[in-house]
Amino acid sequence: MNLPKKVTIVDVGPRDGFQMEPGFIPTEQKIQIIDRLSETGIKRIEVTSFVHPKYVPQLADAEEVLARIKRKEGVIYEALVPNAKGVERAIQAGVEHVSMVISASESHNKANVNMTVAESLKTLKEAVKLALSHGIKVTTGVGTAFGCALEGWVPPEKVEAVADEFLDMGVCELSLGDTPGLANPAQVSEMVRYYLQKLKGTDVGLRLHFHDSRGQGLANVLAAMLEGATIIDTAICGMGGCPYSPGATGNIASGDTVNLLEAMGIDTGIDLMKLIECERMTQDLLGKELPGQTIKSGPIPWALKKPKSG
Ligand code: ZN
Repeated sequence: MNLPKKVTIVDVGPRDGFQMEPGFIPTEQKIQIIDRLSETGIKRIEVTSFVHPKYVPQLADAEEVLARIKRKEGVIYEALVPNAKGVERAIQAGVEHVSMVISASESHNKANVNMTVAESLKTLKEAVKLALSHGIKVTTGVGTAFGCALEGWVPPEKVEAVADEFLDMGVCELSLGDTPGLANPAQVSEMVRYYLQKLKGTDVGLRLHFHDSRGQGLANVLAAMLEGATIIDTAICGMGGCPYSPGATGNIASGDTVNLLEAMGIDTGIDLMKLIECERMTQDLLGKELPGQTIKSGPIPWALKKPKSG
């Protein structure tokens, strides 16, 4: 197999996962989980979102979370922002990297942010400009890039039209999101090949965001890596979902993903046992069983870090 030697895991659980929890997770617990995650060797965590608290009350404590987490050297603490106002809040909170998302599907975008794709592009253009002018790195994501629970098939041209607008804005990373968990490995393979070719020779990275609604998440990761993808979103123990994609479950579980990758000899820099402990703690704090499998069965022994890589 032609697999990358190293893959960067971006744990988006504290944002994508927490926002789907029905009850408010006390700020103290959010901080405890993020701090524990920081100790696993992970390099990137999406810790919160600066969306208006009216829409996502769960993340109304974004500022407090960012102010109180123990920032570990070498870890990038990122946040999702919906507009320029969100960027302003992110700047105030000392965020170095923000993400912004538009759905390629009109229906999903409308349901998600109550704007047409064209309106969203206009809004984000202003937000990207503001972020870049403050030296903040920007990832822009195309959601429902592999299909939409509301509209069905999303033509790749629609995805690319949004991606092209993003690339024109000067972002550093492009993300393709499978919000409803509809992607299959053949489709992922084709898309990743196409986009890596498209981005070749630029400084723009390609990031993949898979939900595991139909159990296809890890197969999609493998397909993406075989094409050369090296930046993958996961969520602590598979938390999450999408309110506007009926039946959508969480992102692929961080523990399962790291277990798979490390067992195949792909370096994530993450200590799997520490990650599993973090997932167990999260499960205990939320008081419910989360979808991740590796915390139930234990890791593949040879997925565990050898002493030399610490
Ligand atoms: Zn998501």
